[in-house]
Amino acid sequence: HAKSSGVNRWQCFRSGMELEPIRRRMLELELRRAVRGRDLYLLYQPQVSILSGEVIGVEALLRWQHPHLGAISPCEFIPIAEACGLIEEIGRWTIRQACKDAAGWERPIRLAVNVSPKQFADPGLVPTVGRALETSGLAPSLLDLEVTESLFLHDCADLDLTIGKLHDLGVGLALDDFGTGYASLGYISRMPLTKIKIDKSFIDPLADEVKAQAIVRAISTLARELGLTIIAEGIETAAQVAPLREAGIEIVQGFYFHRPLPAAEIAALLATGNNVVRRIPA
Ligand code: C2E
Ligand code: MG
Ligand code: MG
Ligand code: MG
Repeated sequence: HAKSSGVNRWQCFRSGMELEPIRRRMLELELRRAVRGRDLYLLYQPQVSILSGEVIGVEALLRWQHPHLGAISPCEFIPIAEACGLIEEIGRWTIRQACKDAAGWERPIRLAVNVSPKQFADPGLVPTVGRALETSGLAPSLLDLEVTESLFLHDCADLDLTIGKLHDLGVGLALDDFGTGYASLGYISRMPLTKIKIDKSFIDPLADEVKAQAIVRAISTLARELGLTIIAEGIETAAQVAPLREAGIEIVQGFYFHRPLPAAEIAALLATGNNVVRRIPA
């Protein structure tokens, strides 16, 4: 079942999430309440250039802080939202809120928003994106929608049409968690992608495994040949940076540089000129 979800199943399973039925049922009820309340909010994780050290963009990441249960991971609640028909409404709110936040920042940076496969079957998706851009004034070319390979495994009516309309709006399409699926190569040549994100599972062994370095170099070459932007996610240590640089990868995202931050902290980071990361190893 998780295979059809838009969340990173490897990363999410690794964190030990179990969807036991009673908790799941409870979370579903609580989530319905949360959607109407204020318990869902967004954090933004910076994406930085390892050449200039500058923050070039952010990825919006959804958070749920339950008044009694505490923080609930998107690995757990996104699949529930997808299964019980709440993801469309949550997704529309996310797109609107992220565009609004990003349009208010000191200088224009890229904005990435995760979009579940289920949302591509929502006739409200394209109008929501269009209106969110219009209302906020965010340039469409700054917005990337992040999708996973599972989007292309779904039987989604009019998928090509929807993707075409989003393309016409001028927004980018990024393939998230690249390399964790099993048929990615076919899709990256067929779909109008603009960007691929190399999954963290290739970054984890990068400091000491020659094979992982070779794979990352190969993915980087492939992306370049196909004219796709490439981004590496989940960088946690300084030692992972040099192999990425050697592979010709410029844009990175990970706890080593920045954790996901509230919108106000992103605004402050950009406004103070502290947006140049000083942690980049020479
Ligand atoms: P993702 O889109 O692949 O997002 C990257 C995840 O990796 C985020 O987890 C982020 O906090 C985490 N991460 C970033 N850098 C590091 C690092 O250096 N080390 C480690 N260990 N983790 C790092 P998060 O926020 O828990 O989200 C998990 C997944 O939930 C996301 O994976 C995405 O699939 C889904 N998700 C999150 N927000 C949304 C949303 O608004 N809509 C949808 N449909 N899915 C979302
Ligand atoms: Mg993902
Ligand atoms: Mg993502
Ligand atoms: Mg990912």
